[in-house]
Amino acid sequence: MATGALGTGDRPLRVAVIGSGPSGFYAAEHLLNHADVVAEVDVFDRLPTPFGLVRGGVAPDHQKIKSVTKMYDKIAAHPRFRFFGNVEIGTDIPVEDLRAYFHAVIYAVGAKSDRRMGIPNEHLPGSHSATDFVGWYNAHPDFRRLRFDLSGTTALVVGNGNVAMDVARILASPTAHLATTDIASHAFEALGKSRIQEVILLGRRGPAQAAFTPKELREFGEMDGVDVIVDADQITLDPLTEAHIAANADRTRDANIGVMREMATRAPTGGRRVRLRFLGSPVEIVGTDRVEAVVVERNALHKAADGQLRPKGTGETETIPVNLVFRAIGYQGVPLPGVPFDDWAGLIPNEQGRVIDPARDREPIVGEYVAGWIKRGPTGVIGTNKPDSVETANAVLQDLADGALQRDVPGADVLAAYVGERCADIITYHDWRTLDGLERAAGEAQGRPRVKFTTVEAMLDALREAETP
Ligand code: NAP
Repeated sequence: MATGALGTGDRPLRVAVIGSGPSGFYAAEHLLNHADVVAEVDVFDRLPTPFGLVRGGVAPDHQKIKSVTKMYDKIAAHPRFRFFGNVEIGTDIPVEDLRAYFHAVIYAVGAKSDRRMGIPNEHLPGSHSATDFVGWYNAHPDFRRLRFDLSGTTALVVGNGNVAMDVARILASPTAHLATTDIASHAFEALGKSRIQEVILLGRRGPAQAAFTPKELREFGEMDGVDVIVDADQITLDPLTEAHIAANADRTRDANIGVMREMATRAPTGGRRVRLRFLGSPVEIVGTDRVEAVVVERNALHKAADGQLRPKGTGETETIPVNLVFRAIGYQGVPLPGVPFDDWAGLIPNEQGRVIDPARDREPIVGEYVAGWIKRGPTGVIGTNKPDSVETANAVLQDLADGALQRDVPGADVLAAYVGERCADIITYHDWRTLDGLERAAGEAQGRPRVKFTTVEAMLDALREAETP
């Protein structure tokens, strides 16, 4: 048994990170790069591929954003970093077992589900969640088999965040726009045959309350073959909003409004249309076998007790014929078996990254931590995860310094043997780099950044083939 102080070369601090998205990598980085603490970090992911939403969420035409993975490769190159891909914690390995092998466990599992609108006929064919569509066009293996009927002319995207923008942009994209991306080949093919002519983006509040950002809005205006339709009456601000703007500075909001005002002056060129509509909430989806229309109630804004302007239905409705509906109203965390969960908030309950036990007076659970969207909710860009994960990693380091993590756990080799007994095809970071190389090589032949594998089986087959002398 190792003797020295915990967190030294004799007796490294053993940390498991569950999830290899940005928050998992940033937490690992902070622990590994600490000057005075020797930590060993094992990162687990249920997929063979790392990077979470950078690979499976960020739109394929946003390659610059995806280039952040170069940083993650550097973190993974640390000698005390290990990747266990294709290993699902909670099913392949129960959390209770995992705890016995580590001084600290950090849950960085993200928010893989989506919020529902809770309206009649939401589950009719043709009504989808943005998360499904995003997973499908990004070649996430879970969504490979989904089908989206793109034979109609009109799609409605509900929500005014950047995910709604991504979905609308991909739906409206001419083939040439997608041809040089790493979009899943099945999605490229299906979108190439799409008959969609109009994508309506519907916000429940006004243009000044939109959650999307000016850069993403401008992108529509820069796409060949796409007209952004902004009717002047849609961006006329109500008196409450005018007063709110006068009293509260917000550069993002002001820039959004500026871009929309400029877009309202443009003459359509006859391309696919992306129509911005505000102050409307779907109250019912209409259709017998599939989506035929959506009943939208007009909203007015009112000032809530917290000073925010919120939407309220006016009772006035309009039926808009549409063939597809995508709800892009937010991701939602799902519980991890054996870990506390706040159903209402869709989070692992925590205080500054320490998991707390709601059943025991919200006491922190020793050695359990959380980072990223499952810690704070599904908000913020990739970079937002860095300070968030540093806060969590600092909680681990503080607990180490306070002696709270003192406990003997088996060494790295024992853990690896245990995982090997329970899981058949563990993917190491080296394996991932092999897959990465194969995807890039396939992409090069097509003038694309990569051609993604779309199933776990295909990845495992490719690795076996690559290893065959
Ligand atoms: P989001 O930014 O929180 O936007 C959610 C949108 O859904 C808001 O417009 C919200 O309206 C609306 N909404 C919520 N409930 C609704 C309901 N019941 N009916 C109608 N509308 C409803 O979330 P997101 O778009 O899922 O994005 C998640 C995070 O990822 C964000 O921080 C986003 O910026 C980031 N992201 C960034 C990029 C990028 O940088 N390019 C791309 C994708 C995602 P209210 O404001 O009225 O609540």
